Amino acid sequence: MKAIVFHQHGGPDVLHYTDVPEPRVHSNEVLIRVRACALNHLDLWVRRGLPNVSIPLPHIPGSDISGEVAKIGEHVTRVHVGQKVVLAPGVSCGKCAACLAGADNRCREFTNLGYMIDGGCAEYVRCPEVNCMPYPENLSFEEAAAVPLVFQTAWHMLVTRAQLQPGEDVLVLGAGSGVGSAAIQIAKFFGCRVIATAGTDEKLAKAKQLGADDVIQHRIMSIRKEVRRLTHNRGVDVVFEHVGTATWDDSIASLAVGGRLVTCGATTGFDAKVDIRFLFSRQLSVLGSYMGTKEELRIVLKLVAEGRLKPVVDRVLPLASCAEAHAYLELGKQFGKVVLSV
Ligand SMILES: [Zn+2]
Repeated sequence: MKAIVFHQHGGPDVLHYTDVPEPRVHSNEVLIRVRACALNHLDLWVRRGLPNVSIPLPHIPGSDISGEVAKIGEHVTRVHVGQKVVLAPGVSCGKCAACLAGADNRCREFTNLGYMIDGGCAEYVRCPEVNCMPYPENLSFEEAAAVPLVFQTAWHMLVTRAQLQPGEDVLVLGAGSGVGSAAIQIAKFFGCRVIATAGTDEKLAKAKQLGADDVIQHRIMSIRKEVRRLTHNRGVDVVFEHVGTATWDDSIASLAVGGRLVTCGATTGFDAKVDIRFLFSRQLSVLGSYMGTKEELRIVLKLVAEGRLKPVVDRVLPLASCAEAHAYLELGKQFGKVVLSV
């Protein structure tokens, strides 16, 4: 089969479009004919290499996958050959206390397709049967692939971790990112007021189209000052963080008394400080969040199928142009997802 493979970590040029053997499925697994694979920031981290993470090489990246079932293992009972599916990116043991509680993203063996195991930047990918999710028939393969990781991550952050309440004020950083565009929609779905940030007027206009009530151009405005102005000095109930060092101080300073900061990443760096006096006297919560659960993805896919949440696709490129897609993603000019069609 054709696949994107890298044999060493580095820039986009380490990604090669080449021939590799088709994966062999185990008895509880399915083989998926990939039709589309959406890219994430995770793909960039995996390609560059992460400290203290030993990714098996050679490696096929790609976590967000839609396609059709091509083969099933002998113990597979709930999906059939030819069925259209969206894949849950998270793979876990399915047997531990966390998995049995439905918190599969807390499993000690949890990983994503395309992270510690081969992913979907290929004509075929294998995965456990339980990763096959109902296909939202109102979407193309490219749109469907743009859903899983960002929507389940944003849902886990806002709903499960930050316990978002109707009518609250939410600051969404990086509206142009995949998680940002998902977070705006989820917060609006809960009837919240959304203040979104982005670096260009074009992205801010698109954030408004997704439902953002107010926007902040973070290159020319102070986020914390604008939030204070827009909330009559109160601050927001929830800050949706994934930017890291560049915005951390503004994020903390934008919280109302009793506010919650929830973060799933740090694309601009990991170093941050918290003034402990500020933390206790204003009764703030800082919440870490990592991916999402299969149950949360099912909820999201139901809302997507009903047209109440919509994946945002910036552009679609062919699989062979994966390196070009990585380079484009690194520029940060996209609004929504960059998707490879296979
Ligand atoms: Zn487990």
